[in-house]
Amino acid sequence: MSASGEVRECWFLTGSQHLYGDETLQQVAAQAAQIVAALNAAPELSVPIVGRPVLTTAAEIRRVCLDASADDRCIGVVAWMHTFSPAKAWIAGLEALRKPFLHLHTQANLSLPWDQIDMDFMNLNQSAHGDREFGHITARLGLRRKIVVGHVGERSVREHIGAWLRAASGWHASQNLQVARFGDNMREVAVTDGDRVEAQRRFGYSVLGHGVGELAAAVDAIPDSAVEDLIAEYLERYAVAPRLQRSGDRHESLRDAARIELGLRGFLAQGGFGAFTTNFQDLTGLRQLPGIAAQRLMADGYGFGAEGDWKTAALLHTLKAMGDGLPGGTSFMEDYTYHLGPGEPRVLGAHMLEVCPSISAQTPSCEIHPLSIGGREDPVRLVFDAPPGSGWVVGILHLGDRFRLVANEVEIVEPDAPLRRLPVARAAWEPKPDLAISAECWIRAGGPHHTVLSTAVPREALEDLATIAGVELAWIDARTDAREFARELNWNGIYHRLEQGAAGR
Ligand code: MN
Repeated sequence: MSASGEVRECWFLTGSQHLYGDETLQQVAAQAAQIVAALNAAPELSVPIVGRPVLTTAAEIRRVCLDASADDRCIGVVAWMHTFSPAKAWIAGLEALRKPFLHLHTQANLSLPWDQIDMDFMNLNQSAHGDREFGHITARLGLRRKIVVGHVGERSVREHIGAWLRAASGWHASQNLQVARFGDNMREVAVTDGDRVEAQRRFGYSVLGHGVGELAAAVDAIPDSAVEDLIAEYLERYAVAPRLQRSGDRHESLRDAARIELGLRGFLAQGGFGAFTTNFQDLTGLRQLPGIAAQRLMADGYGFGAEGDWKTAALLHTLKAMGDGLPGGTSFMEDYTYHLGPGEPRVLGAHMLEVCPSISAQTPSCEIHPLSIGGREDPVRLVFDAPPGSGWVVGILHLGDRFRLVANEVEIVEPDAPLRRLPVARAAWEPKPDLAISAECWIRAGGPHHTVLSTAVPREALEDLATIAGVELAWIDARTDAREFARELNWNGIYHRLEQGAAGR
């Protein structure tokens, strides 16, 4: 089950054929069941694996692929050819398959019984060539797929499968996501806008516009008793500034903030939304820009994008689903300002208010400060520093004819001095390989200023998500060379245009 209580599973398909007789097929089934049991016992896997009966005919294969595609619980399909399964039998099924796909190239036995091996053993354990026949047809069909090689007793094998399962969980979340967009885009901003129709086609999520007045009405309808209860939670969970406490002169602002959170939370729950955007230019009817509300909703798994940024909001929700249960956190983020020296150049990442406390290791401080833009009352926000550690940032952009993801490995570091006067949550990091190359490549790729920062989701899971979606992912990491990166973008551009053309669109 996911954090939302939704039942999810991944199907395990074992391929064979009738040539070997019933006794061999029974052994195939028993050994497939052992592999499924080993995977289900593995802590690296976050979704249960459900073994399906051994497949021996094209009709069975087509049927199970259609069933997997139609089953809302099934988030992906793993296939293994225990024996030789002539791959023409897979064409109709794989062409019909609409779920993320992983080819597990494994075998039941770890070691060869060198002094005992006979022809029966060889004929039972022949995935070495059975999976190559299968791989040929997946290549010929151009199936988007992950290939994992090795015995399931190896941790690295389970980790590769685990990363892919997390990507499949994110993909599943994206397919079922509705993003509430309160108001429109920040005026004249390019990168946060884009093609919502194409996004729905490519990623499954829908972006639904709602007037801020609807949200304001939901906020105004929240009873005082509910506000009191939430204030009690704030006081218990955070270091609330004295002026915001019940006896303080700004307590009314804390009550306004709590009412906004409750109204927003109720609106999202009632509409079945998993992500939302706000826009400080369009807050008519709200007394503050949602600060602590956006932060706490992110911590509960909601995607968020500021200034109408629905692409980042959807991406954040997707990555939240992928990181569910892992240590570390995942947040909306923005490259805000630089430290260019002395010492290693760094990025100070933050936003006006909206950084997720999942990336905090301390008790956040709940504070109120003026916001110089937006023309509303001072907003309440949580303030904290992200602790040192490894992570990455990822941004999504639309190039006019397709989407691109840009990611950068980062090392979050301690600030050179305490940020005593900065009234927002933040993270200071050193981008890989260094700021100059990172920023040059990011800008060349057209990467956005809004990103998602994650210290929870493994890089491999993000790579698997891009493969599942069929979207370019340009990585900037310790090995990146700016000239090679520019060439990679050029080649990718040609590839993706040809690939879209080949698919008839
Ligand atoms: Mn922004």
